[in-house]
Amino acid sequence: MRRPIKAVYPGSFDPITNGHIYIAERAAALFDELVVSVLLNPQKQSAFTVEERQAMAREALSHLPNVKISSFNGLLVDFLRQERSRIIIRGLRALSDFEYEFQLALMNRQLAPDIETLFIVTDAKYSYLSSSAVKEIFNFGGPVQEMVPPGVYRRLRERFPRPIQSQR
Ligand code: ADP
Repeated sequence: MRRPIKAVYPGSFDPITNGHIYIAERAAALFDELVVSVLLNPQKQSAFTVEERQAMAREALSHLPNVKISSFNGLLVDFLRQERSRIIIRGLRALSDFEYEFQLALMNRQLAPDIETLFIVTDAKYSYLSSSAVKEIFNFGGPVQEMVPPGVYRRLRERFPRPIQSQR
């Protein structure tokens, strides 16, 4: 019997958006197991705690039975070893993602040559979508319901009561 193939989809997920969900759905269809892992990056100021980000991801991906939500603090390749996985999934939106992602993938290969980074291209309708855009638009009173799952929208409203306009 072959060993189940497990992939890891790491990210800040601050918060998870429909673009992330799209990538997770496609990856979950390709592999036996997918671990969506929330990165703890002390250099990046986050809007939500790791626990909140995990809770939002768990809720948003509950329709995918082979997806597990996790978090990690440290080197990504060490997390992959811990999970006994050799596949990193990353999403690609535009050319602007490429340079950063390319550098990250090469760095991880340098650290762990047996680990492969695989890229899944986003859907055209999510190509502009990012967690930071969602937060920015929301803070200026813009509509973000179409960009995030309902649980994220609810938490955004709890976290950032809107000073500017009435809630849409
Ligand atoms: P990070 O801080 O690690 O870049 P993010 O949560 O911003 O974490 O993104 C995690 C991964 O998901 C990255 O590979 C990113 O390119 C990808 N991603 C983010 N938004 C989208 C989107 N709208 N469509 C497809 N992939 C996306």
